[in-house]
Amino acid sequence: KEKKATNEIKGKPIPGIQNIIAVASGKGGVGKSTVTANLAVTLTKMGFKVGLLDADIYGPSGPMMFDVANEKPLSVTKNGKSKMKPIENYGVKILSIGFFTKPDEAVIWRGPMAAKALNQMIFDSDWGELDFLLVDLPPGTGDIHLSIMQSMPITGALIVSTPQNVALADAKKAVSMFQQESINVPVLGICENMAYFTPEELPDKKYYIFGEKGAKYLAEDIGVPFLGEIPLVQSLRESGDIGRPAALQDGTPLSESFKELTKNTV
Ligand code: ADP
Repeated sequence: KEKKATNEIKGKPIPGIQNIIAVASGKGGVGKSTVTANLAVTLTKMGFKVGLLDADIYGPSGPMMFDVANEKPLSVTKNGKSKMKPIENYGVKILSIGFFTKPDEAVIWRGPMAAKALNQMIFDSDWGELDFLLVDLPPGTGDIHLSIMQSMPITGALIVSTPQNVALADAKKAVSMFQQESINVPVLGICENMAYFTPEELPDKKYYIFGEKGAKYLAEDIGVPFLGEIPLVQSLRESGDIGRPAALQDGTPLSESFKELTKNTV
């Protein structure tokens, strides 16, 4: 059977968008959305034009993390076509499946419906000029991932994992999904989140609550770059909940960790 060329299955490039980075995790709750939000803010501070597509159909948290949960994207007409205009905050343009669902309603969309909604957000939206579009994928390695990978020209994928075994096993699956011949998206590397905890009263101490350096060892083991570690910090959780990504604040250990992660990723 004849194989299709990668660029043929990957669809057309999106005018104006230079790089599309998919952020995946395998397991849910490991901090994929938190890392994506802070990566977006850090890239903006580095002078890049950044968009964030929250494609997590099961738990879209982008709107809350950017304090825009009550906004609704407007439709604008461009070149005779109706287009969705992303919501902007902290210099990041955002579209999320969460803008189109009721907050307390479970999304039980079938794969094709979700894929259609996402395709509209990607191709029929007025993103303008972007250096980076970050795509916060749903956890897992299902149909929705395949359809996103096959319809979008993804530049590379970033995998987020905690150092614990159950998360690492799923991160490994996510890596192999991107490396499948029919998908063939370069894996930029692995980021270890919740790497350790340092209590305020013991600033020299590191507690490895979820295990020590698991994601780093996994990266070495499967031959992909290790991009950095983000510690478990209460203020990072709080900043997500109030919709003001921690990386907005300059010169803190956290914003420095995100800066290093961002530099290693792009
Ligand atoms: P995912 O997108 O993988 O489901 P989230 O980014 O939504 O995960 O994170 C899950 C929860 O953990 C959120 O409440 C978030 O604020 C918190 N969290 C994520 N990373 C950290 C961290 N490094 N330190 C403290 N809390 C974190």
